[in-house]
Amino acid sequence: MFVGHFAVAFLLWRLFPQVPLPVILIAVSFPDLLWSILVPAGVETVRINPDSPLQKFVVFEKFPYSHSLVLGSIISLPIGLLIAAILNNPLVVPVFVAGSASHWLLDTVVHLKDLPVLGFDGDRKVGAGLWKRGPLAFVVEYVLYAIVTLFALSGFSLVYALILGGVFHAINLPSFFGANRKNSVKSSNSYAVLALIGFGSFTVIAALVI
Ligand SMILES: [Zn+2]
Repeated sequence: MFVGHFAVAFLLWRLFPQVPLPVILIAVSFPDLLWSILVPAGVETVRINPDSPLQKFVVFEKFPYSHSLVLGSIISLPIGLLIAAILNNPLVVPVFVAGSASHWLLDTVVHLKDLPVLGFDGDRKVGAGLWKRGPLAFVVEYVLYAIVTLFALSGFSLVYALILGGVFHAINLPSFFGANRKNSVKSSNSYAVLALIGFGSFTVIAALVI
C-alpha cells in the first residue's frame, strides 16, 4: 500500500496538531523507508516477477524488522524518542510509534499472507490479500485515502492532498492492473530504491503544500 498510509498521517495530524506534519509523514512511511534500506543491505529479502509488475506477484520473503507489528514497533521507538528529543516534544513518541504501527495494520489489508506479527522466526504471518484483486484494490485504496483525508483536512490543504494522492496513485497503476510490457522494475534493489523515492517524494511534497 502507498497513498493509503498518508491518509492516516493526515488523520493523526488532525488529532495531534502539536506534532509537525513532516514527522507524522515519516512515521507512517517508516516501515517502507526502513525496508528500502534493509533490502539493498541484504538483511531483508524480496523477489520480484520479471514478467509482471502486479503487486500480487511480489514475494516478500523476509521483512521481520520493517514489517512486523511487534518488532517493527519496537524499532520505531528509538527513532520516535530521537525526534522527540530534537524537537523537545514528548508527544512525538506515541504519535510516531502509532503512525509506524498503522502502516503494518493497513498493509495487512492488501498483502498476501506474508506480514509477520511478532517478527521472530516461525512467527505467524497475516494478510487479507486484497492485492489478488488488483482493480478492486486500486479503487479501495484511493476511496479510503479520499474519505479519511476529507475527514482530516479542509480548504486548500484538502484539495492539494486529494490531487497529490491521485497523482501518486495513478503512477502506481501498473502494479494494480498489470502492463502490456514486462515488469519495468528489474531487480529487488531497484524496487527498494523506487519505494524510497516514492515515499520520500510524497513526504517532501505533502510537507510543502499541505
Ligand atoms: Zn509497507
